[in-house]
Amino acid sequence: MISLTTTQGRLRIALLLGEHQKKALQRQDPSSATVINKSGVWYIHMVIDFEPTMCSGDGVMGIDLGINTLAATSTGLLIEGKTRRQFKEKRAKIRASLQSKKKPSTKKVLKKISEYEVRRIKHENHILSKQLVEEAKRHNCRTIRMEQLKGIQSRTKTWNKHRNQMTAGWSFHQLQSFVTYKAVACGICVELIDPAYTSQTCHRCLKLGSRYGERFTCATCGDQHADANASRVIALGGAVCKPARISSAS
Ligand SMILES: [Zn+2]
Repeated sequence: MISLTTTQGRLRIALLLGEHQKKALQRQDPSSATVINKSGVWYIHMVIDFEPTMCSGDGVMGIDLGINTLAATSTGLLIEGKTRRQFKEKRAKIRASLQSKKKPSTKKVLKKISEYEVRRIKHENHILSKQLVEEAKRHNCRTIRMEQLKGIQSRTKTWNKHRNQMTAGWSFHQLQSFVTYKAVACGICVELIDPAYTSQTCHRCLKLGSRYGERFTCATCGDQHADANASRVIALGGAVCKPARISSAS
């Protein structure tokens, strides 16, 4: 029940609450609220402040984001990206065929399609980020490490290509921000690390190896799944051994 003071006196209105909202309100009273009217329907936005209980474990989970494997974690979780890739390809085809017809209605249809895409990817990112934070909790990880996707100068051509793929319409920034706020709410810290060489370095011996598609080969340690290896390098805090250091050490 909510009690509002209006120009016509006090109004007492029953709240329609979902399970998530009920749980949040059981924990604490709201610190502030805003009443809004959206197309004739009244909503109330409530703010509940709470101190997250710090995660008890001391583990670190690295997450590698990509196109073939949407997300790989150092704890062993691999989420494939095929469904999203196919969805993106199908949508691109529909867009291309619409654009070639040049009908007056095309612009409107294209706008609708792109809005639908944005909504769908956002919804998927919510589910995915929840799954990733659950994975960190299950393994008692106090820290999640991911690659910094922006603001870092490219150092290698390969990495640059990788970064371009990573950021072009794949909403990885959105996914990272969802992971971050969901993690912080559970008392898990998030660190963004330098992405240089994470996919070319072996997580076991920290030497450079070679990557062919889904396989990563290290001359010393052998074959591994490339994205699983990258997620473990990320968990370590990035590729500690840069090529210059390796050559001077040998
Ligand atoms: Zn190795």
